[in-house]
Amino acid sequence: MINVEQTVWSPSSWKSKPAAQGVNYPDEKHLEKVLSKIKTLPPLVTPSEIERLRHHLGAVQRNEAFLLHAGDCAESFDACTHENISAKLGLILSFSLILIWGARVPVVRIGRIAGQYAKPRSSTMEKIGDREVLSFRGDNVNGLDPDDRTPDPERLLSAYFHSTTTLNYVRGLLTSGFASLDHPRDWSLSHVRSPALRTEFEGITEGLADALDFSKTIGANVGGNRLDYGQGGGRGVLDEVELYTRYVSQSIPSLTLPSSRLMLPYEESLTRSFPIPSSPSPSTRPEAHYNTSAHFLWVGDRTRQLDGAHIEYFRGIRNPIGVKVGPSLGAEELVALLEVLNPERESGRVTLITRYGAGKIENHLPGHIQAVQKSGHPVIWICDPMHGNTLTSTSGLKTRNFGTIISELTSCIRIHSSNNSRLQGVSLEFTGELNEEGFSVTECLGGSMGLSEEELGLRYQTFCDPRLNFEQSLDVAFLISNHFKK
Ligand code: PEP
Ligand code: MN
Repeated sequence: MINVEQTVWSPSSWKSKPAAQGVNYPDEKHLEKVLSKIKTLPPLVTPSEIERLRHHLGAVQRNEAFLLHAGDCAESFDACTHENISAKLGLILSFSLILIWGARVPVVRIGRIAGQYAKPRSSTMEKIGDREVLSFRGDNVNGLDPDDRTPDPERLLSAYFHSTTTLNYVRGLLTSGFASLDHPRDWSLSHVRSPALRTEFEGITEGLADALDFSKTIGANVGGNRLDYGQGGGRGVLDEVELYTRYVSQSIPSLTLPSSRLMLPYEESLTRSFPIPSSPSPSTRPEAHYNTSAHFLWVGDRTRQLDGAHIEYFRGIRNPIGVKVGPSLGAEELVALLEVLNPERESGRVTLITRYGAGKIENHLPGHIQAVQKSGHPVIWICDPMHGNTLTSTSGLKTRNFGTIISELTSCIRIHSSNNSRLQGVSLEFTGELNEEGFSVTECLGGSMGLSEEELGLRYQTFCDPRLNFEQSLDVAFLISNHFKK
């Protein structure tokens, strides 16, 4: 049993711990000024929404729903457009519709959206032509232009406002019928060229139209144009489609960098104390600290050190949190992390996002499952089949192979069932983004469209890690849905 010494938590107590990865701002006073401004700005999300997500994640933990966690590796300010936001939302909805319809399982959606601007880097410097410049760290830190690499605190404020704009538009789309199941074609398929995929998806939307028609005819209100979360005894339907945002607290994989604090100062400035909304009596409501920049936060595989700043920060906030679990995490350390992050053993509080790599999962996942089972900790197990399977193409592009992604995913499902456990969700980097001619991005190899190495360069648009495109993502959705089909 690993024991961790703990001191009193506060939104800034992370500062007393070593923080892996970070940014050195040349002008600390400027940084402080920006952070003081952010401290006065309103929350991006509310405690009630965060509590609702905790509740939904509790259902996932009890195998009553499936978790989809997906979006970009890193967003950019320039990509904050009507087209990109609606394409991302459309893909998230299409993906979950396939699962809901095929596997008959409610889907809880968490988007990697509205705040994910930091870019993971393994080195402080990079070579551009014959120049050595500071690495580009994402739009909330510095600029892509090699002459704009000095970290600028104003970018944190800009990140706040881009997140707000994105979230505002997502909320607007969702409350004005964008996700209506009466017209799924409005948010799906308009650009899918593969006839097989089109036929398969249209089969679902036609079946769904029939089901909705039937229930309207018999007068049963199944929610009509709402997506079902299976709330309330399996019969209820939520009043609106909900989508939760997720903000990368720290996901910077670093092999060489001296550690420092990446976005923790920003998160601290959006950490606010509120009464817990679900408490029984308003007069006795205890207060808790919420990170109000996003509903769900996660910590990267290289920044989840037991005695590090990120875990220290995470242990004190009430948001549900995710922890990336890779091959370097020992089973004992995993249980020690759970003790620190969820001492009360609350359902829905911790999601373990496993990402070993297709060739390594067999060696690590069984031991992790068994250790967690022995500890009695309630966790959600989800598979990230992307981050352990990144490779460089012969032309030097960072890519991932669809077949390898599927291999880790299917091994994960199998290993869970043979260990008396169950895969409860998936974490993907995907995008519904199109180029001007309406073609999907070409960042990952393979899939039903058989994307080849030669085609990779055609529409390689990622700002960060390679993402599955619309068609490849639907391939994954059908695979999961067929697997869980009752
Ligand atoms: C990510 O999800 O973008 C990421 C960097 O993850 P990991 O920490 O698991 O490598
Ligand atoms: Mn990534």
